[in-house]
Amino acid sequence: MSSIIPLHFPGCAIGVIGGGQLGRMLALAARRLGVRVVVWTGGLEAPAVEVANEVIDRGFDDPEAMRDFCERVTVATVEFENIPYQTLSQVASLVPVHPSPHAISICQNREREKKFLREHQIPHAANWVVANAAELTQAMRELGGAGVLKTADFGYDGKGQIKLRGDENPAEIWQKFDSARGVLEAWVPFIKELSIIVARGADGQMVTFDVAENRHREHILDVSIVPASVAQEIAEQAASMASRIALALDYRGVFGVEFFLKADGELLVNEIAPRPHNSGHHTLDACVTCQFEQQLRAVLGMPLGSTRLMSPVVMLNLLGDFWPEETTPPDWALLLADGETKLHLYGKRHARGRRKMGHANFLGTTVEDALERAEAFKASCLQK
Ligand code: AMP
Repeated sequence: MSSIIPLHFPGCAIGVIGGGQLGRMLALAARRLGVRVVVWTGGLEAPAVEVANEVIDRGFDDPEAMRDFCERVTVATVEFENIPYQTLSQVASLVPVHPSPHAISICQNREREKKFLREHQIPHAANWVVANAAELTQAMRELGGAGVLKTADFGYDGKGQIKLRGDENPAEIWQKFDSARGVLEAWVPFIKELSIIVARGADGQMVTFDVAENRHREHILDVSIVPASVAQEIAEQAASMASRIALALDYRGVFGVEFFLKADGELLVNEIAPRPHNSGHHTLDACVTCQFEQQLRAVLGMPLGSTRLMSPVVMLNLLGDFWPEETTPPDWALLLADGETKLHLYGKRHARGRRKMGHANFLGTTVEDALERAEAFKASCLQK
């Protein structure tokens, strides 16, 4: 089922599969428009629960929950991609789902994603699919250098990844690798990591946000700097690759594409995330239309909004290790004192390890100024 939904908001209901922070921010954008939100999630502690109108708190493999969900919603979307394909296609047989289960299924599995990129000649790192120690041995031989072994299914934020120098014993690596199938990727000597957020509407209208430069801390996004300091042609190349991906997936909704930029100017796609993306959180405060409202517009069949960047911005992820104690937050007065910083918290009560607890958008007259303030706040939290 597809086609443009006749909208009757307030009144129509969007179903969100998944209850994490992305679902929460999507729900907040929906409620601003008077759109009802039904969240389907396992566990009432999930961040989207307290802002949803209705919650279905049962597993994604529960057929009754699926029918219940579909009865309550006009249209459905996902807030994270690791939803079983079977669930998505069953939902899609009852209500429209955007993006399509097909597009989501390609992006939720590295093997399918790499095949898709290869078939559409979209540049990406050399890679080998491996399903046993012998195949890994052969792949490492062909690679002949540094790489990274990643799980084919359901990996994110560096989970399920083993970095390889190239001289390890493949049998030992395979034994350590906790997955039935993997993708061995060549190590990319990148100079920057970039990303772009794209939205494609019901009528094929496509818009891109400014390219972000992303810095990670132990595999998890630390800061996104927008606009990225890259040549115009690199930004254009990123937008053009993202547009090709959107067309090839016949995509409807918002997605993020992560890239590696090499010293010679080559841009390689690392990953496609079929949903709003962590590196697009700056759009909440720095753009005319945020990525969550854009997702709603696309899913509900409305015209897309302007993506214009109104201010240089640095988004800082607030991870659990910023918290001095599990239930004691950092000194928000320090963060908010400069008046140009916007705080977003996800309502998680316990700050454990490197959980994503929230983020802050540092607006500024230049990205350098915003970055300096973001780094100073981070240092004040992490040096304790
Ligand atoms: P991923 O979960 O695949 O996005 O990987 C997490 C992070 O690991 C990336 O953002 C990079 O910093 C790093 N990484 C992943 N794959 C590669 C690669 N092939 N070459 C260099 N760095 C990588």
